[in-house]
Amino acid sequence: MNINLPSIIIAILTVLLINCTVTASEDTIDTSKLSVVMRNAELPERLIKKINKALEENPAFIADMLTCLSGEKYLRELVDKQHSLPKDYVPDDLVTLEEGGYQLVRKGSLRRVAAESLGKMSAAARADGIVLVISSTYRPYDYQVTVYNRNVQVLGKKEADRESARPGFSQHQTGLVVDFYPVTDLLAKTRAGRWLATNASRFGWSISYPSGYEAVTGYKWENWHYRYVGIDLARFIDNYFEGVQQYALRFLHEWELAKP
Ligand SMILES: [Zn+2]
Repeated sequence: MNINLPSIIIAILTVLLINCTVTASEDTIDTSKLSVVMRNAELPERLIKKINKALEENPAFIADMLTCLSGEKYLRELVDKQHSLPKDYVPDDLVTLEEGGYQLVRKGSLRRVAAESLGKMSAAARADGIVLVISSTYRPYDYQVTVYNRNVQVLGKKEADRESARPGFSQHQTGLVVDFYPVTDLLAKTRAGRWLATNASRFGWSISYPSGYEAVTGYKWENWHYRYVGIDLARFIDNYFEGVQQYALRFLHEWELAKP
């Protein structure tokens, strides 16, 4: 039998090469970029270690990150003490909230995805015998001016800055944020507050200013202020970032800023 050994070897090598290339493009990312991004995002050392460990043991981290990056940009838009929205920024699909599944303290509106999710979450809460009460939702720039000035008058500038955003720097302008009632620390002691703390992330909601992270978020604990980030990102925050939204959003923000 006449076997052409060199051509068989070339065929085998070609198959191997194609497989390797496909694997590389699907499953790997530049880990040196990842290190730079984690530093730029000012993640604490323990989180960097945790993410590096996750990378070694659990290839899902990269897939999960890419899933978050492929979602709507507004879901991961960083709005904090350093990053503002333009004065004229108005979400393009605001819907007026209708009472029914939940109660409204005042009129409100949210982006469509957030409003729909709020409906689903409220139905689930109701099934557990809890009625969610909505205090504050989308706030346009002009209204933020009013709220901030009022807080400065009542609390003084230093205290006001711990719990209210300067105009343009409020997450409420994203149309993705709900303040649940009552807007005080007491909410955490109510059944609704406890239910939210346990269940909100299943529906894509994330507490923006958790307890003990004022140095990270710039805001004192606000157990009433939840931002809709979508289910994928909420899971990403919980799985890899200790449930701290600020870390995850800063990480994704820096990832998109970094050179490829
Ligand atoms: Zn709020």
